[in-house]
Amino acid sequence: MPIVRVGLDLPLSTLFDYKIEQNFAVQIGQRVLVPFGRKQVVGVILALTKESELSADKLKSVIQTLDDVPPIPAELLTLLKFCSDYYHFPLGMTVLAALPARLRSGEPITLKQTLSYQLSVDGKALDLASLPKRRLSQQRILQALQATPLTLAQLRQLTASAPATLKNLLEAGWVETCPPPIASEAIFNGAHTLTSEQQLALDAVIQQRGYGCFLLHGITGSGKTEIYVHLMHEMLQRGGQVLLLVPEINLTPQLENYFRARFSNVELVSLHSGLADGERAQNWLKAQAGTARIILGTRLAIFTPLPNLALILVDEEHDSSFKQQDGLRYSARDVAIFRANQRKIPIVLGSATPSLESYYNASKGRYQLLRLSQRAVQPAQLPLVRCIDVTKLPLQEGLSEPLLTAIQTRLERGEQSLIFLNRRGYSPVLMCTACGWLSSCLNCAGKLVLHLKDRSLRCHHCGHQQRVPRACPSCGNSDLQPVGMGTQRIEAALQAHFPDARILRVDRDSTRHKGSWEKMRQQIHSGEADILVGTQMLAKGHDFPNLTLVGVLNPDGGLYSADFRASEKLFAQLTQVGGRAGRADKAGEVIVQTAFPQHPLFAALRAHDFTKWAEILLAERQQAGFPPFYFQALLSAESKSEADVFHFLREARVAGKTLAKEVDVYGVVPASMPKRANHFRAQLLVQSAQRKLLQDFLREWQQDLNALPAKNIRWSLDIDPLEF
Ligand code: ADP
Ligand code: ZN
Ligand code: ZN
Repeated sequence: MPIVRVGLDLPLSTLFDYKIEQNFAVQIGQRVLVPFGRKQVVGVILALTKESELSADKLKSVIQTLDDVPPIPAELLTLLKFCSDYYHFPLGMTVLAALPARLRSGEPITLKQTLSYQLSVDGKALDLASLPKRRLSQQRILQALQATPLTLAQLRQLTASAPATLKNLLEAGWVETCPPPIASEAIFNGAHTLTSEQQLALDAVIQQRGYGCFLLHGITGSGKTEIYVHLMHEMLQRGGQVLLLVPEINLTPQLENYFRARFSNVELVSLHSGLADGERAQNWLKAQAGTARIILGTRLAIFTPLPNLALILVDEEHDSSFKQQDGLRYSARDVAIFRANQRKIPIVLGSATPSLESYYNASKGRYQLLRLSQRAVQPAQLPLVRCIDVTKLPLQEGLSEPLLTAIQTRLERGEQSLIFLNRRGYSPVLMCTACGWLSSCLNCAGKLVLHLKDRSLRCHHCGHQQRVPRACPSCGNSDLQPVGMGTQRIEAALQAHFPDARILRVDRDSTRHKGSWEKMRQQIHSGEADILVGTQMLAKGHDFPNLTLVGVLNPDGGLYSADFRASEKLFAQLTQVGGRAGRADKAGEVIVQTAFPQHPLFAALRAHDFTKWAEILLAERQQAGFPPFYFQALLSAESKSEADVFHFLREARVAGKTLAKEVDVYGVVPASMPKRANHFRAQLLVQSAQRKLLQDFLREWQQDLNALPAKNIRWSLDIDPLEF
């Protein structure tokens, strides 16, 4: 009797055996509906066998095979198996987490064909000149269709009113639908002649046969994206698919339009968690069918089946968003490297500020370093960076005189300024001037942030929200003062100082509604804003040509933080935010307000010398015994009972020590956020100079951990953790 071993979305490391009673044709990778307890659940067949440890009468039967979509290919299953092993996460959960939600449910699904549009016989006979001139979108569409059939998405590129116009054209009988044309040559629009640096980088990747990992280290504006486009073109010509991973959903619509415009007859899909379930499933299926040739996505896209995958690009490879922070805690960048290796294709990691891990790998020759040291557009220079010593200059509501003067100059010249501050809200805490009471969250170890617009105090960790008290809850004093600066307070201060300036605040509060960030971006582009105040949202990947000044407020928290990666992150962030200034023909200026102007981080920033900075950090890390010289895993636990958490972790520590492997098992310590949403949190770090030794240790240790009593405790293992 045929038996299948099925992976289910359950926190158990085993697979589950089911028998096949009917004449189902079963394959590995196929989805099936099976009984589990009293429920029916979707699982994936991961092995076929003839025998089971369960006796025949205990074995239940597969209810149904879900063969409306092809099975998950063996190659992808191998990748998922690797992830399950490496991240010590149950295989069934790993496999199911990789599927779009629609495929995890048992609902039937079919791949919708994308229709194309072409001119009908009447349409071909039409004299365009005879059409009324004001029907511009009709003209555009008819003209484009004279060259080649196009899809709706492609026609939208020509005119936003394509859907309505198409309807009219179909009704008039000038246009008809047709199946998508067999991929002819990819049309490549607006290719720039590459600079010699770009050309060298491009050639290196194109000439690569088999696996090769390239680190494309190029300053902001050096034309990394242009290289991606040329690489995509090359791979399309070879009949391949290209996967481009980006860190943020926010960036994908913009990028999607950009790449669509560059490759107007190539099917491109995006994959990220912002898509509706149906659309995401469709895009996934198009990738699996090979019809989508360019796949643009956030980290989850790394688990897309891609039969013709020829190249992986990871943009902003240093970005910590590539690491998932719950469930399967994978690094999409690292999984991408494994996948490229498995498939024997090149992979390019791009960044202006590579992660120390990647930089170190490049310096050891494991990755090939490709450098772009010049901006691609000629007069564009790197911005001038100045540090203002805030211990010597008084601040008015957080702003120094030189910064205010610089903004004033921009206002006079009609140029834009950006004030960067990584703290939203009005002020990070409210204080009583009489007794020193501070607004703290009852559920967390954090403070409540003052939001003045709706007079509320909010916890940014657990979401708790309350009204601002009229008087101090501790002593009754009515003089409560905001302490410290958030984006709202800076916005108010700037508005008071420059009453006529148009100020736009961009942070998670002001962009909560769908489409609001897109609208703001347009306002910035069309010059409807003079001063932008924002958090890191503004720092990433946006190109504002009229922006010539960036002010950085209070970055000092990142200089001497308990998190050993904080200063690496700060440098990347400031380089990126500074890169927003002066991209076109206007020189940019960056003013940093700091109490530590002599810090080597700022010296490197002023000199635009990433390499120098990376060498300093690497020396520090080596001395302290941190990554990339050591490999780490973090065991975290949380519970409503503080004693239980510490007890569990101490037991875990004893078990780890008992294994007596060549790994360091550190002490049990509270998490950096020791209490969140009424849960106490603590952790235990283990590390080793060799990845393999750490992995061997973890495999044994995990058995111990699974056996420890852990009532009311949630615990997890994070391999190569970024957050502590
Ligand atoms: P990065 O991704 O490194 O920040 P981009 O690829 O976005 O840089 O390039 C910055 C700007 O320079 C863009 O406007 C781009 O169109 C332009 N550009 C890139 N390469 C070239 C080139 N070889 N010739 C002319 N312009 C270029
Ligand atoms: Zn008080
Ligand atoms: Zn809270």
